[in-house]
Amino acid sequence: MQLMDGRVVSKKLKEEMSLQIKAILAEGQRAPHLVAILVGNDGASQTYVAAKEKACGEVGFRSTVLRFAAAISESELLHEIQKVNDDDEVDGLIVQLPIPKHISPDKVINQIDPKKDVDGFHPVNVGKMVQNLPGFVAATPLGILKMIEYYNISIRGKHCVIVGRSKTVGTPMSILLSRDSNTGDGTVTLCHSRTVDLESYTRSADILVVALGKPEFITGDMVKEGVVVIDVGITRVPSSTNKSGFLLKGDVKFDEVSPKCSFITPVPGGVGPMTIVALLQNTLSAYKNIIYA
Ligand code: NAP
Repeated sequence: MQLMDGRVVSKKLKEEMSLQIKAILAEGQRAPHLVAILVGNDGASQTYVAAKEKACGEVGFRSTVLRFAAAISESELLHEIQKVNDDDEVDGLIVQLPIPKHISPDKVINQIDPKKDVDGFHPVNVGKMVQNLPGFVAATPLGILKMIEYYNISIRGKHCVIVGRSKTVGTPMSILLSRDSNTGDGTVTLCHSRTVDLESYTRSADILVVALGKPEFITGDMVKEGVVVIDVGITRVPSSTNKSGFLLKGDVKFDEVSPKCSFITPVPGGVGPMTIVALLQNTLSAYKNIIYA
């Protein structure tokens, strides 16, 4: 069994980016700039945004967090997004989800300029991904592809089973793994809560991507020998053994599943760091105007 170590891979990719930024700054140009909008006081959202801010600092990007009270109206928030869209000194804009219930996430995502949509959630970018055209690919799926590439894992002809069909992870993953590309060409089954006899699919998986948000849901008897397991799940589970009062758990029962795997991602330290590095790469692409040139 080999661990797919997101910390190692993301460190390497960040070092490469950092060198690029040093060269850009040495030429007297401005640094890439990522803006994150944070609405309300959700603890996990604050942690994610802080991690993104820290990563920007590590590679030499400028980052700005715009914080708004949970009571901000939908129209005010849309107006704030437009101000960032219009700011030529900003390359990437993300709105940390979830947002308060009185605001439509679809309207918020639609308001983001697709050229600055480094989370890859705007329908224009989703459409481009589906059509295999240049566009921003959502950070978590993109990070997973980078990891597959780094560990030289061939997807071609393999049975890829994805558990969870969210717009941000499972559904884009199903498209990316099945499309005609170096990190695709798989035969994909997309499972969800209505799937009957889920185990029959997970047991036939050569590549298993799990993104459902239920800690330790996938057990040893649900996978076959030699499988590649990518565990996207992150759930905070209360713990008295940890100073923070919680532990981060994946969707896979690591102790049982890992001995059967050829490759597996740990939680934490697997997909999480890759998601952040993919966001940075999208921001750099936005800065260089590579995708929408
Ligand atoms: P989500 O929007 O919460 O959707 C969960 C999906 O799992 C849904 O499609 C649901 O099916 C399916 N599901 C739920 N129970 C199931 C069951 N018993 N059997 C089969 N399918 C089931 O998911 P998400 O936003 O993709 O998040 C999933 C997990 O990944 C969470 O723990 C989240 O925190 C984590 N995550 C991590 C990263 C990272 O960077 N590492 C990024 C994003 C998300 P239905 O559609 O039928 O309801």
